[in-house]
Amino acid sequence: MKQVVIVFKIIGALGVIGFFGDKHFLYLLPFYLIGVILGKVEKYRSKKPESGLATTAPDLTHYYSSVYLSLLNPFNIVLLAKQLLGQLYILVFYSYRLPSPATFQNKVQYILPFRGTWKVGRGGITADTSHSWNLYTQRYAYDFFMTDTDDKPNNGTGNHLDDYYCFDQEVIAPADGTVVAVKNSIPDYTHVGDLSVDWKSRDFRGNYVIIQHAANEYSFIAHFKQGSIVVSTGDVIKQGQLIGRCGNSGHSTMPHIHFHLQNSRKFWIALGLPITFNDIVIADTPNNTGATYITGGQLVHNCH
Ligand SMILES: [Zn+2]
Repeated sequence: MKQVVIVFKIIGALGVIGFFGDKHFLYLLPFYLIGVILGKVEKYRSKKPESGLATTAPDLTHYYSSVYLSLLNPFNIVLLAKQLLGQLYILVFYSYRLPSPATFQNKVQYILPFRGTWKVGRGGITADTSHSWNLYTQRYAYDFFMTDTDDKPNNGTGNHLDDYYCFDQEVIAPADGTVVAVKNSIPDYTHVGDLSVDWKSRDFRGNYVIIQHAANEYSFIAHFKQGSIVVSTGDVIKQGQLIGRCGNSGHSTMPHIHFHLQNSRKFWIALGLPITFNDIVIADTPNNTGATYITGGQLVHNCH
């Protein structure tokens, strides 16, 4: 695995030539990012399987093979290039002043973007708990799904989307705002249960909605079920309003909601913001009506 990471990084480093000479070489830059990501995944795999999925380290063979295959997908390559260039942009302009809980407090009061009790799968405000600490836009992101009393995200075999408790559940607006971007056409990946991702998908974000809540506060919610989004760009919406249904579109190993707060409508160069929620309940802790951070492994629901 280490050798694979090094090969990707070397190929990616060749992309630097693109800055000085032939621009076609720029397309090699995403390989560097892939090398970095695979390196992280390798580290992550050994110490922390995605909570809710398994109590022992899951078999990630299908995950890796589908991620490798996605490197053959031209749509994916273009998006990875955008992501990499966005990372470089943030590094150059913001690396010494990335938002943190010490420097940023959301002005808007947010609720959780769903009804009922869900599990925080991945996410937290520290490097150890973060959804993806080194991906600046998604540093403070959260993945949510539903579980049963055995902490399982599905009944049945888990090989059908309908097996998952959160699939097709309502996703609601976390605060008042204006919809500034919608994607609703990405198919749901039906091959669930082996942790592979949809390498043929045209957008690894799947279907998503971006809502502007304040001058520099935008929520990004992703992996909606294809065609389920009921709001359009320009719509003024209210907190708690239905915006769509949970799906498995894009690069998603099982149905879930991805949610994060960002400081701009431009997904690729936006800074991820640490977010507190109001009027929520975290299982096994006293009810909290003040502004609260949440973290992976918690069961959470809105008070109202
Ligand atoms: Zn996510």
